[in-house]
Amino acid sequence: MILRSRFLLTMDGPPVEDGAVLVNAGRIAATGRFRDLTPHVAGHEIVDLGEQVLLPGLINAHCHLDYSSLRHAVVAQRSFAKWITRINAVKREMGENDYVRAITLGFVELRRWGTTTVGNMEAFPELLPQLPPPPIRTWWFLELIDLRSRIPTEAFFAGTLAFFEGRPGWLGGFGLNPHAPYTASPELYRLCAACAERFGMLLTTHVAESDEEDQMFRSASGPLHDFLKRIGRRMEDCGTRSSFSNLATRGLIGPEWIIAHANELDDSDLALMAAPPAGQAWNVVHCPRSHAYFQHRPFRWRELYELGVNISLGTDSLASNDVLNLFSEMQAAKKSAPWLTSEHLLKTVTVNPARALKKSGELGRIIPGAHADLIALPYAGSTNEVYDAIVENTRPVEWMMLDGKLCY
Ligand SMILES: [Zn+2]
Repeated sequence: MILRSRFLLTMDGPPVEDGAVLVNAGRIAATGRFRDLTPHVAGHEIVDLGEQVLLPGLINAHCHLDYSSLRHAVVAQRSFAKWITRINAVKREMGENDYVRAITLGFVELRRWGTTTVGNMEAFPELLPQLPPPPIRTWWFLELIDLRSRIPTEAFFAGTLAFFEGRPGWLGGFGLNPHAPYTASPELYRLCAACAERFGMLLTTHVAESDEEDQMFRSASGPLHDFLKRIGRRMEDCGTRSSFSNLATRGLIGPEWIIAHANELDDSDLALMAAPPAGQAWNVVHCPRSHAYFQHRPFRWRELYELGVNISLGTDSLASNDVLNLFSEMQAAKKSAPWLTSEHLLKTVTVNPARALKKSGELGRIIPGAHADLIALPYAGSTNEVYDAIVENTRPVEWMMLDGKLCY
């Protein structure tokens, strides 16, 4: 199939006017100007998208679909510990069917806003057999907490991989998500890293999300410290250094991890991020609207950007956001860091998260060999405003292709 559109944005070069993409067996086979490409590829069906811009499907690097029914269910709290207590109370009222419904609703919303790949933190992997194949490419990051339970065995992780055998309709894969340094032990971090290497899984964790988390690790005090101490967490890792350096200096996290949030970083944390091994970069996911909901301190966009950190955007969950929409996230990011160009921003939902998921070359760009995960937006303006028009989009996405198949 050849797709033709007024503009083609490959994220691998400047916008192409009168662009064309040859799709074959779920992958991109060739791209270029329509008039240059078509003489060489006779016999293919041509789908003309008209006055639209064709671009890679968007990638949401951090989401919790389990909580997609909790929009406006928890009022923002000044205290992060208090917020956790409130959401835990709401979650206690939910049963398996509620979570299955929430995940389904979340997928619908992600797709509506042009997301073709999501990194989903999954707290209830036992629900997966009850779900139909996900309607978009999904990495299921198993959320693991060992505050009051034993750490899983290596056999458990090996077993999860068998899940995909016989499920070819499930696009994506598994990853591991030791939840955060305040809920997951060093032993759990080490086990996840070892299993990820052994079984080829991705790794993510929440780090330095709130000022209370930072306070807990720096000074062994504050509401989150007191709450966790009360419920029996061993607190001997508190009182010396920041949340990020507590993990990074002990080798519990590194550039192979996807670090969610990283809101509370000081200059010494940035220094740790400044010298990754050659060819690597730290991966950070920023969730601008969830960040605003919690009123965290300003995200250190410029410093992280200048250090070469690979920054992606995520939505977090609908318990701390009101829409699973990466266009809205780009718009919120632009507000907080107006110097970011629309081209930068579009990379944070395409090229950068693809790299974080270790899928550069396969996702996030329209290049030969990549999966044919594409979206199109109406656009009839000029070449030099195409990035701005995409970032400022406020309409649901009406044309999507996933794995070479038309979705609408
Ligand atoms: Zn999260």
